Amino acid sequence: MRQFAVIGSGPAGFYTAEALAKAYAETAEIDIIDKLPVPYGLIRFGVAPDHQSIKAVSRRYDKVAEGGGARFVGNIAVGDAVSIDELKQLYDAVILATGAPHDRTLGIPGEQLGGVVGSAAFVGWDNGHPDFADLDPPFDGDAAAVIGNGNVALDVARILSKTRAEFAGSDIVGHALEALEKSAIRTITIVGRRGPHQIAMTPKELGELGHLAGAEADVEPADLPPAEADAALEPGARKSVHHLREFAAHDDAGKPKHIRFDFFARPVAIEGKERAERLIVERTALDEAGQSVGTGETYAIPGSLIISCIGYHTPPIDGVPYDERGGRFANQGGVIGDGLFCVGWARRGPSGTIGTNRPDGYEVAATIAEAMPPGSSGGKAGGLGLSALLANRGIAATDFDDWRTIEAAETAAARPDSPREKLVRHADWLRVLGH
Ligand code: NAP
Repeated sequence: MRQFAVIGSGPAGFYTAEALAKAYAETAEIDIIDKLPVPYGLIRFGVAPDHQSIKAVSRRYDKVAEGGGARFVGNIAVGDAVSIDELKQLYDAVILATGAPHDRTLGIPGEQLGGVVGSAAFVGWDNGHPDFADLDPPFDGDAAAVIGNGNVALDVARILSKTRAEFAGSDIVGHALEALEKSAIRTITIVGRRGPHQIAMTPKELGELGHLAGAEADVEPADLPPAEADAALEPGARKSVHHLREFAAHDDAGKPKHIRFDFFARPVAIEGKERAERLIVERTALDEAGQSVGTGETYAIPGSLIISCIGYHTPPIDGVPYDERGGRFANQGGVIGDGLFCVGWARRGPSGTIGTNRPDGYEVAATIAEAMPPGSSGGKAGGLGLSALLANRGIAATDFDDWRTIEAAETAAARPDSPREKLVRHADWLRVLGH
């Protein structure tokens, strides 16, 4: 029998557990450990609440836990409740699937001002992550700036723009829905340091901005390269740029909100008396390598709410080698060291779709299976040992049945137009469980 601990119950963790369960069948026991009492990581807390079709992938993950392939062990913060060294003594392999939940910083003056938030915090707030329940983003001004030209910037701009009716069917948390409905924001500027041909936005997600009930997307025609140049783009990027061309060509439909694309603008400072009032950007041009270089010309973009959507990093864990530049664990093909592995964004950095994590997890599971062939034994204590250690420390873990109890309470509390009203705080989860 082999004993495996997967740390993190987001997509990377579940796909890896699924792959290990398939490779080892009855000859391994797998624990999926999460610091929160509830599973799914990025699916529950990172995917935009109005993208329910993407969130539905959690049903596939349920099968891993329900089929007995793996055990969910929630409410256990690795590095705090239990150390990596302790886990390595208990399990044959420890696989870090901790994702990249921390915001990268801009590193510009004024970043600490009130009203400046990172996308992990903002998306966590509207998705009911307990760490961001009290974020309270300011919506009292009429302008917001969203920094970055990736899909997360699109998620954020869309959430700021939707009407209450457009959130029907989503699982946006009540506190966010109420606050957004009262928002005074009318102009949302999406700021990109490079140009339309360099965006990291996918066509489906960009196209959504063209169908909003109360907002329209605007692109400055002069920012677009000549149409012939689109031929050199790969098909997905060409479709995305096609959407930008539509946004540049449309007539003003008189909708109350505007999402303005401001390209070739590099953030250099955030200014304001007591809180953010404006983002100062430097006009850029592209060098031969397609990177942005400042031109020296600066101007201000108004914004009492400034949300940076410029990527994430994995939080380091004591004793685990870390790649500072990549913002992830130092690894070779998912191998960190003896008995220690990483998968997903903790392995590759924050890029790719949910589905990218599947081959990633299967690859690392295959590496493990090669080193520890199914049927072999490492003589480790595994989950039983972990339970004994936690009991000794007076720490109560949650299991998959507990999650089902929480889920039932969330479903019962749902608004008429949503699948659930998420419980947001630790205390609420534990209350439902009678802890
Ligand atoms: P991303 O795709 O890497 O985009 C980051 C953006 O931030 C880029 O436009 C980048 O510009 C810009 N940026 C980085 N540092 C900056 C700085 N200092 N100043 C100004 N701009 C800066 O990251 P993401 O949007 O966080 O998305 C992460 C991953 O999740 C991506 O693979 C994304 O596709 C995926 N995702 C998918 C969906 C979906 O499928 N619905 C939704 C959300 C996220 P440069 O290009 O110039 O570096």
